[in-house]
Amino acid sequence: MRTITLEEHCSLPALLRAIDARFQRDLTTNEFMQKVRVKLTDLGQIRLADMDAAHIDMQVLSLAGGDLDHLDAPAAASFARDANDAMADAVRAHPTRFAAFAALSLQDPEAAARELERCVRQLRFVGVMVNGTVGGQFLDHPRFTPFWEAAQALDVPVYLHPAPPPAPVFQSYFTGLPEDLGFMLSTAGWGWHVETGLHALRLIVTGLFDRFPRLQVIIGHMGENLPYSLARANAVLSRSGHKLSRSVAEIFHQHFHVTTSGYFTLPPFLCALQMVGADRILFSIDYPFSPTEFGRRFLDSLPINPADIEKIAHENAERLLKLPVRAN
Ligand code: MN
Repeated sequence: MRTITLEEHCSLPALLRAIDARFQRDLTTNEFMQKVRVKLTDLGQIRLADMDAAHIDMQVLSLAGGDLDHLDAPAAASFARDANDAMADAVRAHPTRFAAFAALSLQDPEAAARELERCVRQLRFVGVMVNGTVGGQFLDHPRFTPFWEAAQALDVPVYLHPAPPPAPVFQSYFTGLPEDLGFMLSTAGWGWHVETGLHALRLIVTGLFDRFPRLQVIIGHMGENLPYSLARANAVLSRSGHKLSRSVAEIFHQHFHVTTSGYFTLPPFLCALQMVGADRILFSIDYPFSPTEFGRRFLDSLPINPADIEKIAHENAERLLKLPVRAN
């Protein structure tokens, strides 16, 4: 069975050095991050061997770009462009194994829209990945309109990926904890997942999808808690005086896709399957932060019918990203 994964990250050595310098951070003794970084900065042999070992046919590459926003705008835009060129080289070298999502610095939304156009029209990228808030602002802010216009005009999905929270949020919610627990709780241990669920709801309730009716958004991590909470959010938000043309749940069902990245246990999957449906769930790993073999075992163990497995493993990705269909 062909298997395509959509939240598979890479980075550039120069970008990692710039981020470490910006945060005065030394990760040389962090064994986990050292291993992750070797894989992040490889777009060839190591990555392909990991994919082969777990029978992953294609990765859609994306920059691990959650820290870009913390660099000054010209540096961030330059790194995003370099990352896009590096991913384009990998796709050219291995066109059946890799596709790519554009990396953007959204500090200048007009320039980001132009870079997205370059990535889709010239480099043949299949979408774009954005990371959390920008300068503390969610992407429903009017200043990001040029970005959303470009995504709709180019007919590519937007993958909304988490990023560390804005500084005031970190200060209020995640300080007063020992060692690195505050950082971990603010990111993959909890915080950035619920922030991304909130971000998705903000896009919905501010009418973004009425303004851009063809827009499709992908969220990872089994839906960033939304499948679990959608019914209540829908009920409560529908009582608001601010009326939408469709319900929150309708907009979610019509404009969102969910990937399995990093979530490899059955209960959240079954919740997503019931709330989102097999037509809008896509298999993903979150390489190299999550172990590829865990994801593979999870996909192979799903107690659902074979037709739905095919949708989740590759058919939904082929349709959403307009990938050439190949027999495997
Ligand atoms: Mn990720």
